[in-house]
Amino acid sequence: MANHFDAPLAQMPGELARALTPHLSAPFHGHLSAQAVAELEQASGLQGHDLLLALLPLAASFAQAPVSHFEVGAIARGRSGDLYFGANLELAGEALFHSVHAEQSAISHAWLAGETGLTEIVVNASPCGHCRQFMNELQSADDLVIVLPGQDNGALHHYLPYAFGPKDLGVEVGLMAASGQDLQLDSADPLVLAALEQARQSYAPYSHSPSAVALACRDGQVFVGRYAENAAFNPSLPPMQMALAAMSRHGVGFDQISRAVLVQSSQAQISQASAAQAALAAISTTALEVVSAA
Ligand SMILES: [Zn+2]
Repeated sequence: MANHFDAPLAQMPGELARALTPHLSAPFHGHLSAQAVAELEQASGLQGHDLLLALLPLAASFAQAPVSHFEVGAIARGRSGDLYFGANLELAGEALFHSVHAEQSAISHAWLAGETGLTEIVVNASPCGHCRQFMNELQSADDLVIVLPGQDNGALHHYLPYAFGPKDLGVEVGLMAASGQDLQLDSADPLVLAALEQARQSYAPYSHSPSAVALACRDGQVFVGRYAENAAFNPSLPPMQMALAAMSRHGVGFDQISRAVLVQSSQAQISQASAAQAALAAISTTALEVVSAA
């Protein structure tokens, strides 16, 4: 694993690179605890946003950008103080709407880890309009600080004035903070149950169509993704993309997928099946199993 991180470490101050090295052999999937952050601040002399900015090359090293060759790294700080890294993911040969943006990767990383809100997000390039809209879905959007290299830190609403968001559609509890929904299905299949558990926690306040994906790999690892809907619809992050972004952060090749399960509600207004199948077909010969929950 060390080789993968040599290039980003070379872009950091020496004290920080030395202090980080023990964390990178764990292996490292882009999560640093608040305690580790405090230790890195002490060892490097870099505090707060300065530390996050210095860590960005490490986040960008998770990028898979076969179309743009433009590597974006993002780091979200959860309310717990932990850091969650994310990077952009593009699927070679597939339509661009299958892409995951670095901010979406970092935010979904924090959400999957159990965070209920974010205090700040650091990105190595100015967030695109799609990501500004995606971040506006967060329950913590009003307090979210955007940190960019060479810019004054600004609130999300500075970057997205006159925003259209959840409250305009009558949704009061936003992304990451919404409680789950009651979904049931009869199965003893661990992968189906893993997807069911995630579907219960998915966020679909507009379509009322909860869903999630679980991907099993040949080495036994399982990666999951929950649907994260958006008031502007198109920036919604589909469950397959969230799961693939998690695999990408773990450095697991998509050729390692041995099974793929989508669980969605039988009463859903919209289906994720064709979109998930198309994304999966771009990177794997594994067939998608679609399971309905009541
Ligand atoms: Zn973006």
